Amino acid sequence: MTRGQEIAGNLTKVVESIEKAALNARRDPSGITLIAVTKNFPISDAQILYDLGIRNFGENRDDEGALKSEGLPSDATWHFQGQIQGRKIKSIASWADQIHSLDSLDHARKFDAIVGVDQMAEGKVKKYFLQVNLEPGRVDRGGVNAKEVKRVLEILFRETRITPVGFMTVAPQSMDPLMAFRKVRELRENCVEQYPSLNQLSMGMSGDFEAAIACGATHIRIGSSILGSRGLPV
Ligand SMILES: *Cc1c(COP(=O)(O)O)cnc(C)c1O
Repeated sequence: MTRGQEIAGNLTKVVESIEKAALNARRDPSGITLIAVTKNFPISDAQILYDLGIRNFGENRDDEGALKSEGLPSDATWHFQGQIQGRKIKSIASWADQIHSLDSLDHARKFDAIVGVDQMAEGKVKKYFLQVNLEPGRVDRGGVNAKEVKRVLEILFRETRITPVGFMTVAPQSMDPLMAFRKVRELRENCVEQYPSLNQLSMGMSGDFEAAIACGATHIRIGSSILGSRGLPV
């Protein structure tokens, strides 16, 4: 079996599972964007996925994302979902169309300063998801503590031009994914009246995307179920 056949087979299974989960949740599958997470996989795999019709790609590292986004046709959408380092923001902003892991006001201000003027001029607005950390004891996980989200949104909307489209989360290992995703859904429901732009939820990975779809995920980020187990970064 070629790598292309292997990936095609995996992708078909994942798409079928997404459709089934959507059906179970009485949702239209077209409201769920599948992001293929290509981190640690070579650009040839991303190209195979592109040829199979995938247009949304997720990356965790700036250098890898820059390289792959440059190598693929320009109608692909690139999602940055890794932990943000302040000194990398300018570079991340140069290739990523959507930032799923916005994790602090400080980083938001940096994106705003770097991207703001140019993107306004081009009429092109980057999409941002605020990452929610459901495990406040684990700062290494990244994201804004769920209890801090409202305060952060208030300042974000008041002091920057960044308008988050929703929340992103990674279900903590210590938590039932269904409970985790419900919490983030509730958080959105509690915030959306005041901030109507918050209508998207980026949640669900290979191990828990069915639960995420049941809880209203609009973007799911799938790596290993499509590409297999990951090695070291390329
Ligand atoms: C790696 C990663 C994924 C994909 O994980 P899989 O379990 O391989 O599907 C999704 N989201 C984030 C933030 C990741 O770091």
